[in-house]
Amino acid sequence: MLQVEEALQLILTNFSKLQSEERPLLDTLGQTLDEIITATFSIPPLENSGMDGYALRYEDIAHTTPENPTILEVIGEVAAGHLPEEEVTLGSAIRIMTGAPIPNGADTVIPFEDTDEIERKNMGKETNKIGIKICSQKRANIRPVGEDVKENEVILTDGIVLRPTEIGVLASIGKSTVKVIRRPKIAILATGDELLQPGSTIEPGKIFDSNSFSLAASVMKYGGIPHLLGIAPDNLKATIDKLNEGLDADLLITSAGVSKGDYDFIKDVLVQRGEIKFWSVRMRPAKPLAFGTLNARNGRKVPHIGLPGNPVSALVAFEQFCRPAILKMLGRTELNKPTITAILRGTITNYDKRRVYARVLVGKSGKHYYAVPTGPQGSNILTSFSRANGLAICPQDVPEIYDGQTVSVQMLDWPEQVEI
Ligand code: AMP
Ligand code: MG
Repeated sequence: MLQVEEALQLILTNFSKLQSEERPLLDTLGQTLDEIITATFSIPPLENSGMDGYALRYEDIAHTTPENPTILEVIGEVAAGHLPEEEVTLGSAIRIMTGAPIPNGADTVIPFEDTDEIERKNMGKETNKIGIKICSQKRANIRPVGEDVKENEVILTDGIVLRPTEIGVLASIGKSTVKVIRRPKIAILATGDELLQPGSTIEPGKIFDSNSFSLAASVMKYGGIPHLLGIAPDNLKATIDKLNEGLDADLLITSAGVSKGDYDFIKDVLVQRGEIKFWSVRMRPAKPLAFGTLNARNGRKVPHIGLPGNPVSALVAFEQFCRPAILKMLGRTELNKPTITAILRGTITNYDKRRVYARVLVGKSGKHYYAVPTGPQGSNILTSFSRANGLAICPQDVPEIYDGQTVSVQMLDWPEQVEI
């Protein structure tokens, strides 16, 4: 039986960063950038106004006070997306909107609220004149060329993970596609005579296949592309036939059939069609866990993680072993789950010197995080996992963690859901 870390290291040696591909910008959220992005022009490309107001020459208003406003002649107007037609000269101003290019001759923008524009309109005064009430500073409200991005500047480096902000930056320099590490394809097979496809009618002795769905959703959550192979009944040939359909994947995941029962065929599949590397990890839940490679026709060795069948075991093992493999393929360097220290409200018991992952709901009160077990911890009880936002870890050599002691918690949902 391997320790969790040993099993993980062994699994990870079978994965590496995938190749990159050019993708439409909106398909790249969460993917790793695989090119260096240099700006081909400055942003903003032209000096433009940071406010709705009047573009003018500072000299004209240098001595202005609210009691003694400067009256300027309004010689034109310019909106965002249009080029100014007039030039500002001494004694004149151009009405300007946020984002519009600064007219030649102007060196300052005074916002509407520091002028008498509204009084003029209300009192029916001539609108080809404007009273400026404050002197402000020279160049006030003028956004210089290249204030955000300078031409030829490196703005994004390879290896970063694209978030909405980076996707916005890429769009701002006009890119509609970008080179990213491709998403891994993950084939998922449920095994078991008892399984029915959700959507069909329940039958005596049968249950619906939930693992395919929770696992596929987890694959999507971490950036992979799930490929559902369906359900294989408990016999070796059917399992091999179904798995053959998934040998083009970057990773094969099966659920169930890895324990010591009469119908547990996954280890046999690995032995016959590839290589088995281990089948047991010192953890609870998810002790039975098979890992190996299957031989594809083209000679490729396809990594295969055989997860246990119990729905919580499958998901806990996915988080520990499949998630890091997916992230490594995606080119990520941080593979550990975000972990916090919380004060336990309740107890976690370790019966047999395995590492225990207990389902807890973490919340913050004052300065501390608190972790409350979410109910029955049987590996078949999926609803108590659905009430949890973290997995509290009891190390293998600790027999019990008591109420009030601190505990490490791997966060499943992080971080906004923990604030209470
Ligand atoms: P096994 O690993 O085949 O012994 O299965 C362990 C438990 O998990 C059994 O109670 C199975 O019925 C259950 N199980 C196996 N596969 C699934 C699945 N795809 N969805 C939900 N439960 C499952
Ligand atoms: Mg079974």
